[in-house]
Amino acid sequence: MTETGADIQDTDRVIDTTRPHPARVYDWYLGGKDNYPVDEELGRRIAAIDGGSAPKAARANRAFMRRATRALAAGPGIRQFLDIGTGIPTEPNLHQIAQSVVPDARVVYVDNDPIVLAHASALLRGTPQGVTEYVQADARDPHTILEQAARVLDFGRPVALSLIALLHFVADEDGAHDLVRTLVEALAPGSALVLSTMTADFEPENVRKGIAAYAAGGVTLVARSHAEVGAFFDGLGLLEPGIVPVSRWRPEEPPAGDGPVSLYGGVALKP
Ligand code: SAH
Repeated sequence: MTETGADIQDTDRVIDTTRPHPARVYDWYLGGKDNYPVDEELGRRIAAIDGGSAPKAARANRAFMRRATRALAAGPGIRQFLDIGTGIPTEPNLHQIAQSVVPDARVVYVDNDPIVLAHASALLRGTPQGVTEYVQADARDPHTILEQAARVLDFGRPVALSLIALLHFVADEDGAHDLVRTLVEALAPGSALVLSTMTADFEPENVRKGIAAYAAGGVTLVARSHAEVGAFFDGLGLLEPGIVPVSRWRPEEPPAGDGPVSLYGGVALKP
């Protein structure tokens, strides 16, 4: 599960630098170095459309991940984490947050992009007491993810499942709701779902243009309304303050600058 070499025979492992990839465009927004000219080009096109709100949303989203993970490790004392759509490592990573609260936390990361696999070794340096693992798999194949993750996680005990800035890359007709349902069904009572995903509720015109720019680069992007995001949490108990722009989920510091953040976030517990 932890191999990091690229095998050019295997298309899942080839880094395609001829078209933009979500993980690398996101890395560019965050000021990372693991992106290529095609990714930067799409990032700059989006920035020209929205006046820089995508990089701001990416940073706010990362901060949401940190606050939500800390809250779940510290509050309900969750010790196991399954993070799907991990992205290129960006310090601090989820396992570092979880293990700073619960040193023996067990963390499984999942992504389907070969560049994340190539950098996975940075995700696997956790505490000596804890475990971190990386699985290369597609979120649209939740059964494989559950099978592989069960090598490290005990699904008889609570797990925090995080799908952070992932579901806007999976359309409803591509199984977004089915995959969430399948994963949540596998979780024990006391488990959590942490989710953030894009919305056009605040900046409809910019988001529409952004979706078109991603589509021109061959990437599917979907915006969802507050009610549509709420449907992902069916049967779960949302924690305060419910589903809100990620920057408003239990903020610890005043938001950097004005303007909306077009990503809804929420955290819920399984009864
Ligand atoms: N969760 C991180 C990264 C978000 S970027 C964060 O919020 O900071 C979105 C990530 O989802 C990318 O790394 C991309 O490769 C991954 N992704 C997109 N579609 C996916 C799919 N179908 N299966 C698995 N990962 C996917």
